[in-house]
Amino acid sequence: MQKIQMTTPIVEMDGDEMTRILWKMIKDELILPFVDLKSEYYDLGLENRDKTDDQVTIDSANAAKKYGVAVKCATITPNAARVKEYNLKEMWKSPNGTIRAIMDGTVFRAPILVKGVEPYVRTWKKPITIARHAYGDLYKASEMKIPGPGKVELVYTAADGSETRELVHEYKSAGIAQGMHNLIPSIESFARSCFSYALDTKQDLWFATKDTISKKYDHTFKDIFQEIYDNEYKDAFEKAGIEYFYTLIDDAVARVVKSEGGYIWACKNYDGDVMSDMVATAFGSLAMMTSVLVSPDGKYEYEAAHGTVQRHYYKYLKGEETSTNSVATIFAWSGALRRRGQMDDLSELMRYADCLEKATIDTIEAGYMTKDLALVSSLPEIHPLSSEGFIKAIAERLTQYLEK
Ligand code: NAP
Ligand code: MG
Repeated sequence: MQKIQMTTPIVEMDGDEMTRILWKMIKDELILPFVDLKSEYYDLGLENRDKTDDQVTIDSANAAKKYGVAVKCATITPNAARVKEYNLKEMWKSPNGTIRAIMDGTVFRAPILVKGVEPYVRTWKKPITIARHAYGDLYKASEMKIPGPGKVELVYTAADGSETRELVHEYKSAGIAQGMHNLIPSIESFARSCFSYALDTKQDLWFATKDTISKKYDHTFKDIFQEIYDNEYKDAFEKAGIEYFYTLIDDAVARVVKSEGGYIWACKNYDGDVMSDMVATAFGSLAMMTSVLVSPDGKYEYEAAHGTVQRHYYKYLKGEETSTNSVATIFAWSGALRRRGQMDDLSELMRYADCLEKATIDTIEAGYMTKDLALVSSLPEIHPLSSEGFIKAIAERLTQYLEK
């Protein structure tokens, strides 16, 4: 069989631990035999981040901006234990945070649905994609413990020194206080990423805040979304037959539970943090969750939502057999290659991505899966496989599909 050709490279960001092992298996078994892969490789493994003083992460994010499509392996975000384990020069920042800041992007998370792993919510038939604004609010708040009576105010000091004040509270007892902020350009980027991703994936977009209570803060989010929608996206949405709609967060939660899925739910930072864990769990498996970072000008970075699966890696290092689920990482590759195919008008590459996803899902639905899914699957006949056995089973099916 002739290998499928590419014209522009994708940016490949390698990572850590068990997912780094899966990364190589996926490339060797599922990609390289079929695709003449063009990629610009960046090693984001913790050792190399330490060696390059984390410059490699910055370089990889800039490359993603340049080429427009990246695929990333899960990486360790160092904590004190990791600094010791890897003898690090510094407790390097989260690579995902660094990449997100450089690409100014929004993260979209969506579950992969398979027969046998049913959502806990009976009505859900299609994936629900959560878009989380990843800047500000609670995550950059200043807080104070108020020891006793007195008043707390918000004070804005303009560049000319003039002050505007807003009373937070007159305290008659001890209490607590919090100051949050956000930025108009960040909210605008968030809105544009959401609208363009909705258009790309042809799904409705829902957005919800608590604007009835938060008349300036949350209301600003609502107004910015509406204004950008009306001025920049309305026509395209109508042409694509999709809808943007805004509602209160409490109403959104009720509608989501009663819906059949198949839309994007845009959330403020905290709501997205909480709701994405709720939605992921309710769909059945963290290992089946995809994640894509989208910049407001349509640059994409694909990855799995889970981490490096450290516990399995230590088993692997001891020479024990592992059964780690590679589905979300495979879908990161298929997502990136399909996107590259769309941008460069390569129908063979797009078809390959479709076949890879279909081969993966059909393998599981035929009963061949890793142990995490075997534990929850309701299929009558299940064959649990090792990490490598599962990828090889997909490769067999993929070969058949591509030859058809
Ligand atoms: P994790 O790697 O997601 O794994 C947590 C547990 O979930 C695993 O021990 C495993 O359960 C299960 N699991 C997750 N993915 C699985 C898969 N593909 N197949 C089978 N089981 C899977 O989270 P963590 O252990 O909290 O974090 C490990 C490292 O990953 C940390 O250093 C963290 O910084 C990093 N991390 C990176 C990213 C990222 O790069 N996007 C995201 C999150 C965390 P059992 O052990 O019960 O089998
Ligand atoms: Mg969370």
